[in-house]
Amino acid sequence: MNRRHPVDAAAPGFHAGAKKHLGQNFLHERGVIAKIVQAIDPQPGDALVEIGPGQGALTFPLLERHGALTAIEFDRDLHAPLQAAARAHGELRLIEGDVLGVDFTALAAELDAPGGRIRLVGNLPYNLSSPILFHALAHAGAIADMHFMLQKEVVERMASAHGSKVYGRLTVMLQAFATVTPLFTVPPGAFRPAPKVDSAVVRLVPLPVAQVGIHDPALFAHVIRAAFGQRRKTLRNALKGLADAPAIESAGISADARAEQIPVAAFVHLANRLASG
Ligand code: SAM
Repeated sequence: MNRRHPVDAAAPGFHAGAKKHLGQNFLHERGVIAKIVQAIDPQPGDALVEIGPGQGALTFPLLERHGALTAIEFDRDLHAPLQAAARAHGELRLIEGDVLGVDFTALAAELDAPGGRIRLVGNLPYNLSSPILFHALAHAGAIADMHFMLQKEVVERMASAHGSKVYGRLTVMLQAFATVTPLFTVPPGAFRPAPKVDSAVVRLVPLPVAQVGIHDPALFAHVIRAAFGQRRKTLRNALKGLADAPAIESAGISADARAEQIPVAAFVHLANRLASG
């Protein structure tokens, strides 16, 4: 147990050395690791950036395959061991800090990434997965694609269609800016310690700006937040102060519908009508 983190010491059965509050569930299943590397399929020149390398489960095979990568790790206890172990596999550039503080657009420029776009990968800390996804979205123009391990339930939410119970703010925000492709599920036993839930690997590919077609991204985000803020409300009520019933109806959406019934494209249409006054 790590004495500097009494929280972990208090968690019964928690794997020695793994910090629960940092979402540390380390991958150990070789087959799963190989499948992830294969899904990423690094190409010569790619600027790979890994979020949360941990003890190197993905980092080292990726280094062996690709030669070099940049990784961002928050846990300072892991920095020195990672750097030391990485030397046998390739050239690791470690950013020591919080991924939410990393400007991916500046990083892509700094790494001279092909087309100005990095490739993001990671077995994400599950407690931070939504903030990390939104942070990545804010830098979508500097990201070629993303391969993430997440809770299976989150991947289902990300990939769901309107009408589904799990269709929500995360779904609409992601699908408006990226294609979302679930790749495969991973059982708890592939990790140490084993999480309580199934996991899944997902691929996200940001859409070209012209294809996104959102005129005012801040307004779009505002509309989606309000629409799903109280998901049981009709849009007429949920969007009060943002759009009245005639404005909602003029975008081809029933003001008496609820947010979960509305396709992503219709939300884009509504926000664009509101943006143009
Ligand atoms: N990639 C390793 C693996 O697959 O075994 C570790 C994955 S573990 C689920 C998540 C990793 O993210 C941990 O190493 C954790 O310390 C790191 N982490 C947690 N919060 C972070 C943050 N805010 N910024 C960067 N890394 C973070």
